[in-house]
Amino acid sequence: MIDRFTYKETEYANALLENGFMTKYENYEMSLLCKLWKETGLPKKEARQNLLLFCELYSDDYDEMIYYSKINRVINKVYNKDLKLAQVDYIPIYKHEFDFINSLDYPHPYKRLLFAFLVIKKIHSVVWSINSGESKLSGLVSGDKKQFKMISEMAHLKGGKKESIEYMIYDLSQDGLINTLALAQVYLNFIDILKEDTSEEIIRVSDFEHVWMYFDFLSEYNRAGRVAICQECNKPMIVKDKAPQKYCTECARRISNRQKLEYKRRKKSSVF
Ligand SMILES: [Zn+2]
Repeated sequence: MIDRFTYKETEYANALLENGFMTKYENYEMSLLCKLWKETGLPKKEARQNLLLFCELYSDDYDEMIYYSKINRVINKVYNKDLKLAQVDYIPIYKHEFDFINSLDYPHPYKRLLFAFLVIKKIHSVVWSINSGESKLSGLVSGDKKQFKMISEMAHLKGGKKESIEYMIYDLSQDGLINTLALAQVYLNFIDILKEDTSEEIIRVSDFEHVWMYFDFLSEYNRAGRVAICQECNKPMIVKDKAPQKYCTECARRISNRQKLEYKRRKKSSVF
């Protein structure tokens, strides 16, 4: 399942600080907090203290004995190994990458899938470089169910016979764009081809829940209304009416409130 914190671990950790535990995966969320504290330079001892307080405050079934060893395990793992938060702000897409996918003679869902594959591999490359210091864009995709489900969601595939990722991969492998390997792994040949070229950046994919919408935006695909990109937060949105929309509802509200406040301030200062 993909959500707004997928590959946004710094944002996730900050949200935890504000809200307390957010899922049942307490160990994972504890390790995110530790990584955040470690990255801000907090010593191990103080991180342990913080985590104890956090659990005491937010865990429903807090028990000192149980949590003491739980916390030690998490702290040691994060502080002894060089584990960093996997925060990917955005993925740049270059003109030649989009042009290549868009020019293929395939139905639109296939192009969305290839675009999602490109984005996920670029995300993996960034995460790899966060931990190892070097970027490595490879075409290899492990075909486990979780991974395929995430890519299907990024591409907004409807499933069924027509839009099942497995069927579509089979079709794409007929043209050599993708190679199917043993153990359900696939190799994205087209990524190796794209890697050899350079061109200008045309969009930044930052909302990983809606990767397909960036592709629709670029290709001007229109089925249930067109896609626009918010000029403030870079999130894609569906616009049903013809009037051009610059901002998403959230940003529009914030900007309008800010303007009202400024107007009031100006009015007030002109009185005196
Ligand atoms: Zn916005």
